[in-house]
Parts: sequence; structure tokens; C-alpha cells
Amino acid sequence: MPYTHSLAASVAWSLLLGGLAALVWGRRGGLAVGACVLSHWILDLSVHVADLPLWGDLHKVGFGLWNRPVIATLLEAGVLFVGVAIYAKAARNKAAIWGFAFLMLAIQMTNFVMPPPAASSGFAMMALSSYLLFALAAWFVEKKWG
Ligand SMILES: [Zn+2]
Repeated sequence: MPYTHSLAASVAWSLLLGGLAALVWGRRGGLAVGACVLSHWILDLSVHVADLPLWGDLHKVGFGLWNRPVIATLLEAGVLFVGVAIYAKAARNKAAIWGFAFLMLAIQMTNFVMPPPAASSGFAMMALSSYLLFALAAWFVEKKWG
């Protein structure tokens, strides 16, 4: 958590990735990527219980909407669909983009019915493999229909 979900690390990640993106897509692209990276922490703040450190592993915050899963899910789905609506305006195949969004939401819903892995290492492996699979799927969708 200190390296992935602290506010200080999130600022550092957003500067690093925004800077790298600026090298590829220019200043505007760098600002967009940096803002997206930092937005993760801001959006996480609303749903996480008080486990998001401000820096290091200290001063943890979180508004705890995960304790109200229906509200948290509606919020997350709303953020997803606003982003998809913005993206789909410029996509070649809008139906495919919306289909992918609903597929992502359906997979997210499995969190409600599947028990989490018992060991934290199993949870970490599941999370990392899920992120990798989603990134690969998003890359494929972008190339084919974006
Ligand atoms: Zn997060």
C-alpha cells in the first residue's frame, strides 16, 4: 500500500507516468495520463476504508463506501460509464466499446459472489493477473475497435 496507494506515491507515479507520456504524446497527453493516474487515489479515497496512507504507511484515510457496497458499486459503475461515454464518442465501433464496458462490470460483480483467496499472496497474484488481463484486453479492444 505505501508504494501503490499512498498519496505521496500516487503523486510520484502520476509525475513519472505523465512525464513519460509527454515524451510520446506531448504536453497535453502527459497531463491527461498524469491526471488519470492521480485520479485513482482520489477516487479510491471515497471507497476505501481508512487504509490509504497519505505518505509512507502513515496517516491513513478513506471514506469507507465499501462498507455500503450498493452505493460503492453504483459510484464505480457511474465513473466507468462516464469514461466509456467520453471514449465511445471517438471510437470506430461504439457497440464493441460498450460491450467491453459491460463485460468489465460483470467481472467486477463477481466480487460479490466469489470468496476472496484465503492467503494475501493469493489475493496479490489474483489482483496482478487481473490487472494484466484487463490491460491486454483493453489494448486489444483499442486496436480493433477504438
Ligand atoms: Zn486502488
